[in-house]
Amino acid sequence: MKADPKILILEDNQSDADLLLRELKKSGLRFTSEIVQTRLAFEHALKNFNPDIILSDYSLPSFDAITAFRIKQSKYPHIPFIIVSGIIGEENVVELIKSGVTDYASKNTLVTLSAKISRALNDSIVRKEKIIIDDQLKTQAAELIIANKELVFQNKEKENRAADLVILSGNLKVRQEELSVANVLLIKQEEKVKLINHELLQLNQELEERVTRRTNALAESESRFRNMMETIPQIAWTNTIDGEVIFYNQRWYDYTGLNRKKSELWGFNTVIHPDDLKDSLNWFRLIRKTRDGGEFQLRGKRADGLYRWHLIRLMPIKNEDGQMQLWVGTATDIQELRLLQQQKDDFISIASHELKTPLTSLKASLQLLDRIKDNPTAAMLPKLIVQANKSLDKVNTLIEDLLNASKANEGQLHISPKLFVLSKIIDECCQHVRTEGIYKITTKGDMNVEVYADATRIDQVVINFVNNAIKYAPESNEIRISIETINNMVKVSVIDKGPGIPPEKLRYLFDRYYRVDNSGSRYGGLGLGLYICTEIIKQHHGQIGVDSVLGKGSTFWFTLPIT
Ligand code: ADP
Repeated sequence: MKADPKILILEDNQSDADLLLRELKKSGLRFTSEIVQTRLAFEHALKNFNPDIILSDYSLPSFDAITAFRIKQSKYPHIPFIIVSGIIGEENVVELIKSGVTDYASKNTLVTLSAKISRALNDSIVRKEKIIIDDQLKTQAAELIIANKELVFQNKEKENRAADLVILSGNLKVRQEELSVANVLLIKQEEKVKLINHELLQLNQELEERVTRRTNALAESESRFRNMMETIPQIAWTNTIDGEVIFYNQRWYDYTGLNRKKSELWGFNTVIHPDDLKDSLNWFRLIRKTRDGGEFQLRGKRADGLYRWHLIRLMPIKNEDGQMQLWVGTATDIQELRLLQQQKDDFISIASHELKTPLTSLKASLQLLDRIKDNPTAAMLPKLIVQANKSLDKVNTLIEDLLNASKANEGQLHISPKLFVLSKIIDECCQHVRTEGIYKITTKGDMNVEVYADATRIDQVVINFVNNAIKYAPESNEIRISIETINNMVKVSVIDKGPGIPPEKLRYLFDRYYRVDNSGSRYGGLGLGLYICTEIIKQHHGQIGVDSVLGKGSTFWFTLPIT
């Protein structure tokens, strides 16, 4: 039993309560107690006094033991509840005990109460323990139930999982099958891809080969093209379609004296004559615009600083589809051609002038003759006839020269050779000059040498030399003619003491239409005489030449083979 138990006493009668307490103390029970009389006080004591046992009177004025018991039972079932009352009847006691009241003690026999209390307290302890154990059992049972439930749940889970697993494995199988189908497909695809790859590789190789072949062909054609550009005698270059020069042939570098770098930097700008630059650049632009090619002329500077006329030709290079690829340009040196052109133009004007002079004179003579035609004794008549004849001779000579030059040019200057004494011909042909008496003509040398030649033609050559000496060396009063035999050749020289000829012009003297001084028409002439002489001497297998010193005079000579 618990030591010093707390006893709650529900009793409205104070003397009964005192008696009860006295009796208990008398029995030797050590305890603490609280006496309550109302329901409110009872409930308060239950909560705050926390009794180990309750002793209750059976009936109270505002309350009763049964209600008190029920209140106690609802919250504190382990606390023993003993009814201490007067006589309440055997049946009631049995009923109370049945309903759970711990015990009953009569107020008349209080001596037994202490023992009942002790027993009730002991029972209470056992009950309490039982309750605790029951609680524990209940808790354990509950826990077991929970655990069981958990197990059931887990089992279900497991079952579910197992079911899931079954489904999953079923799914997996399906997937596996699908995968293997996919795998087969993949393998097939892979084979296809391999095949395509192989075809692609072949195609690539073919393409590469084609590109290489094409590149090689291109390189070959480019090198052929460049070689061709190098073999032509003209300066040549190529322009991109935008006009940039990308290649010059060697002739360019040779002619301009520019190196590659300078050519790239300056190009045509420094080579073209400043007076031709603007026009030339316009031409370049215009031709490139038309895209059909074209040509124009300009003066290009040579490495030594001299400008020479060039014909510039720009030709477009197009591909099979007619698309522009590049421009090829050539520069042909036409300096000589331009000179010839110039000479020809000069010649035409000179020829017209030369022909017009004797014709005008002839016309004047004829007009005068016409006026005096009715007077045959007029003193002027013979003079006019001589004058008219002279003019006609002059025209005739000019026409002869023209015809001869044209024949010589066509290689049709025929000769009819015969054997004759050279000095004789020379002497005869100088007769016309001698008769005029202004010039002294002396002939010296081998006067007997004979040649096999066309006398008329040789005569023509000597007359031309002598006439030129008279014409171009008027201050030289004496004209000497020398005849020398050197080995098996005879050399005839016509020497004057005239102004001479500048050395740089000597080599052109025998060219067709060439005249040293074309500017002033101080001396008439077509520039054909010496050319015809050259052709005549060539036909005779001889040589022709001139030695001249400025201010001292000139020696025109020719040689003929002695038969
Ligand atoms: P042309 O007398 O009709 O002009 P030529 O062929 O006979 O033609 O002569 C060519 C040029 O040679 C002449 O224009 C002249 O300038 C020059 N020439 C010829 N002979 C002499 C000379 N004796 N002295 C100086 N110059 C001469």
